Amino acid sequence: MCMKPVLFDMDGQRATRRQILAHLGRMGAVGAMGTGLSLVPMVQTCAGELVDFIEGPPVADIAPVQLSKHVWMVPAKDAFPTPENHGMMANILFVVTGKGVVVVDTGASLQIGQMALRMIKKVTPQPVVAVFNSHFHGDHWLGNHAFVEALGPQLPIYSLPYTTEQIQGHEGDLWRSLMERWTNQGSTGTKVTPPNRATQHGAEFRFGEVTLKMHFYGQAHTKGDLTVEVVEDKVFHVGDLAMENRIANIDDGSYPGTFKYFDTLQKAGGPDALFVPCHGNARKDLLLTYGTFLKGIWEPSLAAVKAEIPIGQAKALVLKDPRVAARAPTMEGFEANIGKYTSLAYLEAEKEYF
Ligand SMILES: [Zn+2]
Repeated sequence: MCMKPVLFDMDGQRATRRQILAHLGRMGAVGAMGTGLSLVPMVQTCAGELVDFIEGPPVADIAPVQLSKHVWMVPAKDAFPTPENHGMMANILFVVTGKGVVVVDTGASLQIGQMALRMIKKVTPQPVVAVFNSHFHGDHWLGNHAFVEALGPQLPIYSLPYTTEQIQGHEGDLWRSLMERWTNQGSTGTKVTPPNRATQHGAEFRFGEVTLKMHFYGQAHTKGDLTVEVVEDKVFHVGDLAMENRIANIDDGSYPGTFKYFDTLQKAGGPDALFVPCHGNARKDLLLTYGTFLKGIWEPSLAAVKAEIPIGQAKALVLKDPRVAARAPTMEGFEANIGKYTSLAYLEAEKEYF
């Protein structure tokens, strides 16, 4: 095997030294390196594999917390990505079974996935045997890269087919580059690693004494939100369908679709089910509390459409709704997003009503 040094730019294209230096200048790499970004050798093997030019720094360990007999979580304390948190904005769930470890959502970067692997090793010597991705937003699957790097490309990564299509399409690379920007290049080195197995509503997987059951009830947060139930523990990983105290992105979703999904899932889980979001803490009343807040946006918007009140006045009605007013002062992302998400509710209400 031979290795020859070749210069590449950030898209993996051959680049001249002048181009590389110009790129470093644009991204302020000298300062960035002082915060831990590292230059790694630029090489191309005879097989044509590319080694990344720059990798972001490792992400600091976060102690996992146990949620139930088999279920653990590496919790994210922040709700949004920043240069300081390196994109650690979404909880990573792992299920310890008699037949290995199953991970549900892998975080927002190679480096976060590597940190999760270190945390899993603190809990169990067992290997990771499968990964599930809840939906296509990048903070839930960009960490897949770390798991495939450590365990090989044969590691099963499951998702709904819609999710895989989005990641293989332009959304995959879009999320990778957005995360690099939001983290000031902290996630650099992460490669888009899409799911390699399809699953569907009703599918069941047996790992030793633990059963994982798949749920999907139509468009809600996106058009493909997989809920993974750990049957023996009555724990449901709900991805971004509901959040504890952050307003959820609804650009790709549906308000009535979310209410339908919540009702069906709550019936499936019963009153004792523990619902685990990717943003915030697990709660038994998660669907109820987040659903109440969302209805505070949806119902005044629908009423505005019915009364022919213009879209520009809908936000004031939403802000007055007690279900929204009660959460507004403390909910993460509220100020920045409530105007847009009210508009989306209004536009969806127009479609529903007419
Ligand atoms: Zn999402």
